[in-house]
Amino acid sequence: MTRNPTNFLGTEVKNLYDNNLNWVIRHLEEGSKPHSTVDGKKVLMLNTNNYLGLATHPKVVQAARDALDKYGLGAGAVPTIAGTFDLTKKFQEHFAKFKGVEASLLCQTGFAVNQGVIPQLVGKEDYVISDALNHGSIIDGVRLTKAKRGVYKHNDASDLESVLKEADAAGARRILVITDGVFSMDGDMAPLDEITKVCEPYGAMIYVDDCHGEGMLGKGRGIVAHFGLQGKVHVEGGSLSKGFGCFGGTVAGSKDLCEFVTNKSRSYLLSTAHPPSVVAAADAAISVVENEPEIVERLWENTTYFREKVQALGFNTGNSCTPIIPLIVGDPGKSQQLADILFREENIYGTPIVFPMVARELSRIRVQMNAALTREDLDQALASIEKVGKKLSII
Ligand SMILES: *Cc1c(COP(=O)(O)O)cnc(C)c1O
Repeated sequence: MTRNPTNFLGTEVKNLYDNNLNWVIRHLEEGSKPHSTVDGKKVLMLNTNNYLGLATHPKVVQAARDALDKYGLGAGAVPTIAGTFDLTKKFQEHFAKFKGVEASLLCQTGFAVNQGVIPQLVGKEDYVISDALNHGSIIDGVRLTKAKRGVYKHNDASDLESVLKEADAAGARRILVITDGVFSMDGDMAPLDEITKVCEPYGAMIYVDDCHGEGMLGKGRGIVAHFGLQGKVHVEGGSLSKGFGCFGGTVAGSKDLCEFVTNKSRSYLLSTAHPPSVVAAADAAISVVENEPEIVERLWENTTYFREKVQALGFNTGNSCTPIIPLIVGDPGKSQQLADILFREENIYGTPIVFPMVARELSRIRVQMNAALTREDLDQALASIEKVGKKLSII
């Protein structure tokens, strides 16, 4: 057999380009903030997870600078080998208190939490049950388990109950139920109150991945705080890279959980600890959310205002009830055109989301609100979206 080692790379890439399925990576020439410079253009950004504007908050940036001066840059090793920083211990205690739980653990990323933790929680005698629209990192984490797998209809607690019954009847040793807190493509929220109620009689372990919910829900504390379910949700996975504007992943819950993850999660054990400057920044970001609750309030004021206005223009925002507001266009080509014209002609940066991230007929631009956007910014964005939406006959 004649074998070419790398020909497939070019073929596959060409295929992606031919089908408009390739990602275009743009380059920011300033920080991630509402008014930034992207590919040489001053644009209004409507597509970052930096919901509270903390990535450029002076107190967050100063904390990183101070830690950089004191500790230098890299951590030097994975935490279990050469230790981690006093800053990390302080952050973990602070974050647990903020979330209203016993303990927390700073992990590499939200992605790494799912990769590392899920496969340790369940084994071949067990069942893992997922929401049908869970994030790809959860799906990958589940793929790493040897547990039997069940899926329930998106946000449907009664369908979850029928899958729980199956798992119970199959004699599962443990049952793990996993859901996103806030779903990143639609901006809807898991019915965590119903989920906990349905799970309780089965003794199922509940794992919520709240990467998007943190910073926005429950006064910034996330979906568990939003529903007042501290202690009833057993594992909270999170990210410091979104609403908190920094970088990293978190696990929050009981002391036993955090000890377990420290000793078992392969991504925790085999990947280097955070740069201390990032840890200091994350600690400062949490303090900002605690001390300046008006930032979270501003995020929600902007969300309500923008959602009402785009709906009035005739856009379909699906089931969005959070600062993630999809403008569902339907046709993938038109979604890309909408984003492209907004960027080139209107200096508005919104991201088209098409297959395979969402179903083809649900192609969209995903708008994400930000506490740092002014009313003027929102009105400017709305005027541009109206103009281009009409031009493309979307509205
Ligand atoms: C963004 C996201 C992740 C990944 O978090 P990172 O910290 O960016 O790695 C995991 N799960 C969900 C639900 C997310 O939205």
